[in-house]
Amino acid sequence: MKTIFEKNNGVTGVCISDEVENLDFLDEKFIRKTSTNLPQLSELEVLRHYKELSDRNFCIEKGFYPLGSCTMKYNPKVNELLASLEGFSALHPLANDEDCQGALELMFKLQEALKVVTGMDAITLQPAAGAHGELTGMMVIKKYFEVKGDNRKKVLIPDSAHGTNPASAHACGFDVVSVASNEKGQVDISDLKSKLDSDVAAIMMTNPNTLGIFEENVLEISDLMHKNGSLLYYDGANFNAIMGYTNPKLMGFDVVHLNLHKTFATPHGGGGPGAGPVGVVEELKEFLPTPVVSYDGEKYFRNYSLQHSIGNVKGFYGNFGVLVKAYAYILMMGTNLKRASEDAVLNANYLKEKLKGAFLLPYDVPCMHEFVLSGDLQKQFGVSTLNIAKSLMDNDTHPPTVYFPLIVHEAMMIEPTESENRQRLDDFVNVMLKIAKEAEVNPEKLLKSPHMTPVKRVDETTAARHPDLKFVE
Ligand SMILES: *Cc1c(COP(=O)(O)O)cnc(C)c1O
Repeated sequence: MKTIFEKNNGVTGVCISDEVENLDFLDEKFIRKTSTNLPQLSELEVLRHYKELSDRNFCIEKGFYPLGSCTMKYNPKVNELLASLEGFSALHPLANDEDCQGALELMFKLQEALKVVTGMDAITLQPAAGAHGELTGMMVIKKYFEVKGDNRKKVLIPDSAHGTNPASAHACGFDVVSVASNEKGQVDISDLKSKLDSDVAAIMMTNPNTLGIFEENVLEISDLMHKNGSLLYYDGANFNAIMGYTNPKLMGFDVVHLNLHKTFATPHGGGGPGAGPVGVVEELKEFLPTPVVSYDGEKYFRNYSLQHSIGNVKGFYGNFGVLVKAYAYILMMGTNLKRASEDAVLNANYLKEKLKGAFLLPYDVPCMHEFVLSGDLQKQFGVSTLNIAKSLMDNDTHPPTVYFPLIVHEAMMIEPTESENRQRLDDFVNVMLKIAKEAEVNPEKLLKSPHMTPVKRVDETTAARHPDLKFVE
């Protein structure tokens, strides 16, 4: 120990190892001659610094977070506890099947539960996110046609679809063909028919679509597609719209992905981890990524013997911790999963009705878990949707998703989720009505919003292209 201090030129500090007696084995050039000059801060001061930074973040525990399509609902904390149980969190991914029966049983039972909610015949838990699920599902569809010797090139995608849909189809090597929406905000059947030919492999649909509107003609669409020898892909990221009421199988879909980190209780928004399981009908079972988890009546095992498997799409078996949380949530909710959908849909319709006078509602029909307003009424006073969003930040509220979907001008896509009570919804309504009033009488104020946040108005383009993450007081 003594040797270390001497060789360090008398600088005192923490010795990293009691084992080290001297540093003779180190080349002289690696030995520090001067002080490290580390900032001298107490643990308490460091703690305060990080606490203050974290207080600047917005989160669901702090306030209303109606970020459309992202389902920023409350995720019970007990799930975190369960996912961190040592038997789960310290399990080695290469453990033999016999040594991880509990984990395999959980995965198997989660697959079974997801089969029930989706109506599908087989599930893979591997994909790490919704978009990853889409890619996996599209790879399954591609391989299905390859094996049939029918190399179809095109995928139809309604213009109201989530942006990841065309991206996934394209990444998979398909040509994306956009299908128009009609005046009801639903797929325009005659446009769809005009684009349907023998080169169409599939349609990717979000139902309810990103306007929060349920596609009334979904059965006619699935009939048209199947008659054409094409498959149907269901984007089930926002399953809290329909869970327990209907399912993609009943609507005629062949492949579906779910976002466990939206509907099935994993906190998200910081970039992960997530899980985007994919379900398929009987005909596509043999194409799923391997391994899937199977049960032979006695033990659970990783099953690699799928005839046409597209292979592994994720290291090991997916984000296991997310799977534990989803399974815990499903057991906790039981038949109340249906109630979650009811509350999500009721809350969205409540807000829609309360806000539709003060803001333009381009598609005035009953919505599912979300709805889309337009800021066009405020635009006449020079106030844009961006200004409204920034002003919400001054009112302890996270802005909704803005400027999406693209088919609505100055769009504000609002999703209250099932977590919120009536009082919280009314608070949001009051804030929105206050902002609508301000847009009329004091637009100048809104143009400079936010006024109360640690960072005020930023130049969005430069901020995105040249991020400067230095902390400025
Ligand atoms: C969130 C979402 C996705 C993408 O999910 P990620 O986990 O972010 O990749 C896809 N489709 C819809 C409709 C979504 O809301």
